[in-house]
Amino acid sequence: MPNPPRYHSPTPNQASTVLLQASELALRFLDRLDARPVGATADAASLRSALGGGLPAAGEPSEVVITRLARDVDDGLIAMAGPRYFGFVIGGHHPAALAADWLTSTWDQNLGLYAGGPALSIVEEVAGGWMLDLLGLPSSASFGFTTGAMMAIFAGIAAGRHALLARSGWDVERQGLYGAPGIDVVVGAEAHATVQLALQYLGLGRERVNTVPTDGQGRLRADELAASLQELRGPVLVCAQAGNVNTGAFDPLSVIVQAVRSRDDAWLHIDGAFGLWAAASPRFAGLMAGAEQADSWATDAHKWLNVPYDCGFVACADRKSHQAAMSITAAYLVQDSGERDGVDWGPEFSRRARGVPVYAVLRALGRNGVRDLVERCCDLAARMARQLAAHPSVTILNDVVLDQVLVRFSPPGVDRDNATAADRFTREVIATVQRDGTCWLSGTTWHGQAAMRVSVVNWSTTDADADRSVEAILRCVERLAAGLPEG
Ligand SMILES: *Cc1c(COP(=O)(O)O)cnc(C)c1O
Repeated sequence: MPNPPRYHSPTPNQASTVLLQASELALRFLDRLDARPVGATADAASLRSALGGGLPAAGEPSEVVITRLARDVDDGLIAMAGPRYFGFVIGGHHPAALAADWLTSTWDQNLGLYAGGPALSIVEEVAGGWMLDLLGLPSSASFGFTTGAMMAIFAGIAAGRHALLARSGWDVERQGLYGAPGIDVVVGAEAHATVQLALQYLGLGRERVNTVPTDGQGRLRADELAASLQELRGPVLVCAQAGNVNTGAFDPLSVIVQAVRSRDDAWLHIDGAFGLWAAASPRFAGLMAGAEQADSWATDAHKWLNVPYDCGFVACADRKSHQAAMSITAAYLVQDSGERDGVDWGPEFSRRARGVPVYAVLRALGRNGVRDLVERCCDLAARMARQLAAHPSVTILNDVVLDQVLVRFSPPGVDRDNATAADRFTREVIATVQRDGTCWLSGTTWHGQAAMRVSVVNWSTTDADADRSVEAILRCVERLAAGLPEG
């Protein structure tokens, strides 16, 4: 018997076989995206048994690995990129962005430095400029592509931390925070959890904050902010929100800007992971009024812009502080190109050229296409809210100002004020809808009440998808109300 190979060393020719195979598998997945159940059907145990086992000693041919991988993960995949996934705030992938992402991996450039990929560095430079333009931010702002909004928030707050401490003569990047003058941090009571995480990472403490109460829609209350700012004597870092993850509501940004700008020892960061995109539509841009006067902004491209994971974006009015907070110089780095080096603008060193899919989708959609994308999603959210609200079991909890809808269900025949019954029924409806598979929505707790959260941020969702999803949700409500089994 011949000896088995010690391992499989691919030849360059084999790359074409396995890549063609991968593109066929990808196309097959995309073809079935609309028809497959939106949620995963496999559980962790069956996935583990299909995918696990010991590390093979001899390895397997790449074609075999790829075929089996695609087969073995299939039942555990979620149709997140599909038109009826409304969970969290997720977004799909526009074809131009997906194709650009494939090529980005193929080109395999390292955008930590301009020297690590001149062409793609320029692509990112152009894409960043387009982003500032679309989002209504100053064209002189610095920017960076991050893994997501969380790291964009991190970078924006880090720049603020630098600027505020530098004014007191403290170099936080060199000296750290021990012994530094204090910074007071002010956040709204409904700031996204990732703002707390960024504060945690930056040594500012996620609980060492002044929390400003919010109103019935989750907007930071400007009067409370003004009162809070009056009490604070030292440097202040204020985090406002454009787009509450539950309601879609915007903090009153122009009033906040005025309050913060009235002192010279304050930094205003705006978290607009999805909300910043309101600026791309004249219909919604009013929500963003004043936002351009903040100091830093964070948003996502992998949500509403529909690029594949992962891609966030940070912009900063104060380029020097942004660069000081992110950058390092080292003798062995070639940072003398005079061009833009990625390491200066984000919290990473080696990194993929994740701005390339952004460039592709922005070119494919153009200004009008992005505007349409935003408006279409908001129209669909309003359409779903309207149809759901017509059912006697349904209460819409929020003012639908953007793409987010909060839905609460009461069991038929039970008083809507019976909160315990409505909480339970709402959770049952969500679980039943998730199992039904027509669409997928997540649950949330909003001001103490259980709710279903609808988020419309996918370029491919149509009126028919919205209608089919509402039908499925109401069918689940009826079935539960009648005590009928699922199926
Ligand atoms: C999604 C979201 C974030 C976090 O973004 P990631 O891309 O998950 O890091 C922060 N803030 C808001 C309002 C969000 O919706």
